[in-house]
Amino acid sequence: MKKYLLMAPGPTPLPPQVLLAMAKPIIHHRTDEFKAILKETNEGLQYVFQTANPVVTMSSSGTGAMEAAVVNTLSRGDCALVVRGGKFGERWGELCEAYGVETMMLDVEWGKAVEPSQIESALKKHPEIKAIFTTLCETSTCVRNDIEAIGKIASGHQAVLVVDAISGLCADELKTDAWGVDIVVAGSQKALMLPPGLAFVSVSPKAQELMKKSTLPKFYLSFAKALKSLAKTDTPFTSSVSLIYGLKESLTLLKSEGVDNVVKRHARLAKTTREAARALGLELFSKAPSNVATAILMPAGIDADALRKKLTRDYSITVAGGQDKLKGKIVRVAHLGYCEESDVITVISALEMLLNQFGHKCEPGAGVAAAEKVLLQ
Ligand SMILES: *Cc1c(COP(=O)(O)O)cnc(C)c1O
Repeated sequence: MKKYLLMAPGPTPLPPQVLLAMAKPIIHHRTDEFKAILKETNEGLQYVFQTANPVVTMSSSGTGAMEAAVVNTLSRGDCALVVRGGKFGERWGELCEAYGVETMMLDVEWGKAVEPSQIESALKKHPEIKAIFTTLCETSTCVRNDIEAIGKIASGHQAVLVVDAISGLCADELKTDAWGVDIVVAGSQKALMLPPGLAFVSVSPKAQELMKKSTLPKFYLSFAKALKSLAKTDTPFTSSVSLIYGLKESLTLLKSEGVDNVVKRHARLAKTTREAARALGLELFSKAPSNVATAILMPAGIDADALRKKLTRDYSITVAGGQDKLKGKIVRVAHLGYCEESDVITVISALEMLLNQFGHKCEPGAGVAAAEKVLLQ
């Protein structure tokens, strides 16, 4: 058996404290004891979301909360603007279309961030737009969008701003209230250092007003139900008790580190990875790199997926590949969640050895040396 290193942009490895917390016996979810835990996790979520808005905890993967954001704000025939610069932007579009929403796609070249001015023009041209759907980190391309600038534009408009921060929350800076983001969606299995299975959504007063008019069908995903329960420190349905134990622990860890420091840690590891890749003569795919993961283009003639396969077989390291048109072309090295300097050094050293085996000549140690230079700063 080999020691396993998971460096994908979700799921991510878990700290031992979180694993242990989840091993505790189950208690009933309608007890004062559990309520006390929920109270703490609800407040902790507001802290990491940097919001005074309620944050709903759902038992689903991240996409369940994305779907909830659509069905709770819109009605059939409403107009929505979707920023589509990768797989997750596409997902917003597919979700809206599945529910008969009039969807305007703002297509962005993969690898680039959306120009906030394009959102501004779309809103000017189509004042009927009710919601803007975008992503903080578009994980498929490792691009970070400028949510602060988009928030400024949206705040003067009737449209609510909905941000998929499933991977980005705690890795890339996101100030929900200060930036005027109405709905932020996050997932458990990314920077929050939990297993897959929980999703979180913050809902602003502006979004709650729109909610009242929304007629798309919903039951399990109803924010009205969730917010009513949340006000009583309860949940409408059975809580994922073990995952909530884990959440309490992970939020304690994040709080003690401080959310700004958590973001800084991700930024540092991201910079380290980028500098190492450059030192190996490799090109980066993202023109606006996120702290979540680094997309590295493989040199011509090297199949990224064959390299990844060998990385897993020989070094027991998992990184992500490219999706769709990027399949076989990039590797995405995540430095997300419970990730250390030594993990980044390990993956870089394995990559430089493999690249040489695959015919891309680079000096052994060159990537690691560049990484250490960043880490020594
Ligand atoms: C991981 C991820 C998702 C997918 O969430 P699931 O938990 O698989 O439903 C959605 N959006 C982004 C940006 C992600 O990184």
